[in-house]
Amino acid sequence: PFDQVELRARVRAALRTKRPQDILEQQSFLCGLTGLWNRAYLDQRLESELNMAVRYGRALCLVMVDVDRFKRVNDTHGHLFGDMVLQGVSDALRAFARRSDIVARYGGEEFGILLTGTDLEAGLCVAERLRSSVENRHFEPHGEVIHVTASLGLACTRELGDDTTPSSLIEAADRAMYAAKDAGRNCIYHH
Ligand code: GH3
Ligand code: MG
Ligand code: MG
Repeated sequence: PFDQVELRARVRAALRTKRPQDILEQQSFLCGLTGLWNRAYLDQRLESELNMAVRYGRALCLVMVDVDRFKRVNDTHGHLFGDMVLQGVSDALRAFARRSDIVARYGGEEFGILLTGTDLEAGLCVAERLRSSVENRHFEPHGEVIHVTASLGLACTRELGDDTTPSSLIEAADRAMYAAKDAGRNCIYHH
C-alpha cells in the first residue's frame, strides 16, 4: 500500500536533486573555453566506442587536429585573441562534424575527434571537410584579416587491426598528425 500524494512528492523531490547532479556531471566533461567535450570525456568514449566497434565489427576513426604555428598567433596578437581563435576553430570543427562524431579539445591547441561507424575512406572525407572549414574561417584582430590552418592525423581501427587499444589508436593518429606537420602543415595524413 502507498499514498499516491506522498509517492508523487517523493519522486518530485528525487528529480529535483538529480537534475543539478546531472548538470554538474556534464559540466565536468566540458571545456570551459570552447564548450567542446574535454579530454577526460574523449578518453572515456574512446574506450567504450572501441569496445562496441570490436563487438559489432564496425570501424572507428580518430582524428587529431593541431592548429599550425599557433604560438605565433599568440605572440603577434596576444593570448586573448588566441583564445578567440581557439573558440572559432572549435566552432568550425563542431559545425562541420556529424551529429554522431565526438568533438573534443584534447589540450592546448589540439583537438581529438572520434568518428563512430566510419572507415578510413569516409574518415578522410570528414577530415578534409574539417581542414577546409578551419582554413576558411577568418579572424579580425585590429582590423586586419587573418586565417589559421591546422594539420590533421587520422587513424582507423580497420587498418590497425583487432588488437587496437585506446592508446594505440591515439598514438597512430598522433604520428599521422606529426607527419602532416613535417609535410608542410595544413594537410591530412593517415596511419
Ligand atoms: P606547430 O605548427 O608545430 O603546431 O606550432 P605551434 O606554434 O602551434 O606549436 P607550439 O606547441 O609551439 O605552440 C602551441 C601554443 O599554443 C603555445 C601555447 O601558449 C598555446 N596555447 C595552448 N593553450 C592555449 C590557450 O588556451 N589559449 C591560448 N591563447 N594559447 C594557448
Ligand atoms: Mg600542439
Ligand atoms: Mg600547433
